[in-house]
Amino acid sequence: MTKKNVVVPEAVAIAVPVPHGSTAIFPYPPPRSNGGGSTGSFGIGRKLLTQLELGGRINAWVESMKASSPTHAKAAAALTAVPSLESANSWIMKHPSALEVFDEITSQSKGKQIVMFLDYDGTLSPIVDDPDLAVMSDAMRAAVRNVARYFPTAIVSGRCRDKVYNFVRLAELYYAGSHGMDIKGPAKGPRYTKAKSKAVLFQPASEFLPMIDEIYKVLLEKTKPIPGARVENNKFCVSVHYRCVDEKRWSSLAEEVRSVLKEYPKLRLTQGRKVLEIRPTIKWDKGKALEFLLESLGFANCNNVLPVYIGDDRTDEDAFKVLRDRGQGFGILVSKLPKETNASYSLQEPSEVMDFLHRLVEWKRASPKARPKSVNIPTSNP
Ligand SMILES: [Mg+2]
Repeated sequence: MTKKNVVVPEAVAIAVPVPHGSTAIFPYPPPRSNGGGSTGSFGIGRKLLTQLELGGRINAWVESMKASSPTHAKAAAALTAVPSLESANSWIMKHPSALEVFDEITSQSKGKQIVMFLDYDGTLSPIVDDPDLAVMSDAMRAAVRNVARYFPTAIVSGRCRDKVYNFVRLAELYYAGSHGMDIKGPAKGPRYTKAKSKAVLFQPASEFLPMIDEIYKVLLEKTKPIPGARVENNKFCVSVHYRCVDEKRWSSLAEEVRSVLKEYPKLRLTQGRKVLEIRPTIKWDKGKALEFLLESLGFANCNNVLPVYIGDDRTDEDAFKVLRDRGQGFGILVSKLPKETNASYSLQEPSEVMDFLHRLVEWKRASPKARPKSVNIPTSNP
């Protein structure tokens, strides 16, 4: 019996150059721009959230595991203790609700093609104890379907592509699974879709597949004695979930994972919400996936595009940062609490994401130029 179909990975990845020479497969492209940077000063220590050191002390691992677990008392205290009313207000001033400033957002899109990027867990579906049950409501699915009628739309998730597709079940979307390491175009869709898009667009880590399979099997065996540990094969990364592991066993689990990982120098470990993740050392993340998709859509070097990325994970920060650095489009962080983020705006929870998607469609429909069947596809880069 395999323990699979879990997950809600989120971890910290690294920035890297987008592959040059990737041609415009779809009707669309990205520009350069001014820098941005991290904003806000909330949340738990960033150092704890980055890649774990293989040579580090196990205690440091466990502390990091606690710190990145939102339901853990210490982490919760860290999150809730920080924002005074004043600082919470200052955070919301910096990252206003995307619903509150909706008109401001749409005014930025004049003459530009909006492209939507949506994380799945915690953005389109609620975070639940059993990630297998993180289903998307029919209402949310309808909202995403409507958005995709007007704007190219991609799901960007830590889950493997097949799993996230099984939840979303909309063939007209782009899917970037395994933190963007497995990208595929829409299986159907008359507008901004070409025949080529039906093929897998990009799998920058394909050479790691046998290694990932192997370490998955090893980890399954090694973690068997630890009750509650769940190992998930996400195709391009392996996730070890400790959500259901007694905290007293976290150090044993960390020790097992570390000892296995030592045999695989080409893999690295990152962590997210109650999950340790093993992934290829290649520098690829959701931000790179976003750039790749924009390029594939034909927006490689133009300014007539407004990418909007909505997500709640730390991994989504890579995408927020890409948008901030390009000075193009913006990120929307889904969070009820102030957090350090590169996103420009905020929404509190998936229900607000749905409201935002509805508003976007209503706004587009009301626009005199609303033509669901004809997205402006650039024929050349300016
Ligand atoms: Mg998420």
